[in-house]
Amino acid sequence: MPNIDTIFFQPAIGNQYGVISLGFLSLSGYLRKNGIDSRIVVLADKNTEDTVAKKIHQFSPKIACISFHWYIHAYEIVKIADAVKKTDPNIKVVIGGHSSTYFNKQILDFTSSIDVIIKGDGEKPILDYIGSQNPQKIENTSFKKNGEFVSKPITYRQDTLENLTAANENMNEMVDEWEKYITTKRVRTSAPISSSTIVEEVETRPSEFYLYVGKGCNFNCCFCGSSKTGNSRIFHRGTAFFRPIEDVVKDAIMLKNNGVESLFIDFGPFGDESYFLKLFEKLSLLDMGVVYLPWNLPSNDIISKLSKSFRDFEIQISPDSGSERLRKYLCQNGFHREFYSNKLLEKSVEKIAEVGSSRGSQLFLWFMCGLPFESEKDYQETLKLSISMKKRYSPLFKSSQDQINCVPLRLTPESPIDLWPEKFNMRKLRSTFKDYYEYCQDLITGKIEHPLGLERNDLSEVDVIKRAVHYKESILSA
Ligand code: SF4
Repeated sequence: MPNIDTIFFQPAIGNQYGVISLGFLSLSGYLRKNGIDSRIVVLADKNTEDTVAKKIHQFSPKIACISFHWYIHAYEIVKIADAVKKTDPNIKVVIGGHSSTYFNKQILDFTSSIDVIIKGDGEKPILDYIGSQNPQKIENTSFKKNGEFVSKPITYRQDTLENLTAANENMNEMVDEWEKYITTKRVRTSAPISSSTIVEEVETRPSEFYLYVGKGCNFNCCFCGSSKTGNSRIFHRGTAFFRPIEDVVKDAIMLKNNGVESLFIDFGPFGDESYFLKLFEKLSLLDMGVVYLPWNLPSNDIISKLSKSFRDFEIQISPDSGSERLRKYLCQNGFHREFYSNKLLEKSVEKIAEVGSSRGSQLFLWFMCGLPFESEKDYQETLKLSISMKKRYSPLFKSSQDQINCVPLRLTPESPIDLWPEKFNMRKLRSTFKDYYEYCQDLITGKIEHPLGLERNDLSEVDVIKRAVHYKESILSA
């Protein structure tokens, strides 16, 4: 078996594979370009410890990196780090990602199994750390020295995404057990949430893989940790940027050659769609399927292009509320993406039905309940709009209860709501890394004290969950 320098562990979501974080795809490509071999191991078992030990013996790495981008992995990352150290205490354990940066000091106080946290962008810092293994000399690090917490400032950030790859000619050399990974259904949502009777777990198509198009966001949705505010604080970057189209197309070709049939594209930080019009044109030569998540309302042009460029398509739109009043209010106050009317939304859905219904194309609609300033009337408008969508466009929803969703708002670290709850008339029920660790641990038993982690001063956590349950039942019976 090959000896590789670095192993990347992607934590499991319950007993299932999650999706590989964008950071790992980018890091492994960056290291390869710099002559460093690595492997991404996606964990899925109940027996995390055994799998970690097996993979350490198989690859003999010097460094084990664990993704702690999504807070949902707070419990798993500690379990994986402990398993690495138990197998070989000489291996350095490094974590990185959004949540690692946010909680960096608290994590190092919580466990001694993690040696270094790389904050913000990790490409150059991880490369330098593999070389020297001295965190003192590396940008963006936090670590303990003689028991004292050391936090170096975030002085490195990526300024360009040119000449990167997030795929490989032979995906087996990038992702361990690639065949098994790509043919197994995975949990697509980055943060599935268990809210008593509701578990959001949207599964991938069997041979779907993420197409890395860009990073960052120019919008500032109040519930989102990856918003402009969150990204400015975590990555010291307030704007989004794209990868060159040629690089993205090269990745898509490599993915297709490795058995990928559907590309998952989840990016849209600007209102301008010109990048996607060009990209879809180029990708049309590949005859693949696509799952596309535009972050704004897709225009008729982009919907037409999508239908012509791909063998089949699924599109996911997130109006978040069916109430125009609420959406407008949030937008005007800078806490939601671009405003569009329900009439325009219906026109887009009409267009999707026109070009996609006969080909079996599918639509997902995502709404939320418990948003700041949402009234009972706003919620009823969301429900009314959703039911009318279900009835009018039934061919677009093979499983309407899974595809027309209203999820209860939950707390995400570094979102505007997390940072300034009082501005939104809200109260946090989780704050520290330990709170998130215990929440994730409780997900295993299903006995979760605070499924959402926040509540409004005028609407309790229990009442928000009741709204979500009511919505689900109403969609099912409509
Ligand atoms: S559009 Fe909104 S929800 Fe999506 S990444 Fe940007 S801030 Fe977050």
